[in-house]
Amino acid sequence: MARFNAKLAAKIAGIQDDSEGYLRDLMAQGYTFCQWAKGPTACSHCVMLHGRRWRLVDFVANLRFSAPIFERSHCNCKCSIIVSGPGQVDEQVYAY
Ligand SMILES: [Zn+2]
Ligand SMILES: [Zn+2]
Repeated sequence: MARFNAKLAAKIAGIQDDSEGYLRDLMAQGYTFCQWAKGPTACSHCVMLHGRRWRLVDFVANLRFSAPIFERSHCNCKCSIIVSGPGQVDEQVYAY
């Protein structure tokens, strides 16, 4: 129920970032880290995030709106994150 409400809150707030479920799937497959990759039209804020790394478990922790990418940047951000793990092929993940 809590998760449903978080999704609803995100919709109301206009934040639509569907990456959380996919990131949790990747984590279950053994992926451990992610790194920010700025998009072609990145703003100065997104440029600052470029190259920053998180543990995947931290990236999806304590989310306010179940929107792990948008919560660190902004709505309609076109950046992605590169998800990696030992023995895993890097996976590029967008918010949409
Ligand atoms: Zn931006
Ligand atoms: Zn961005």
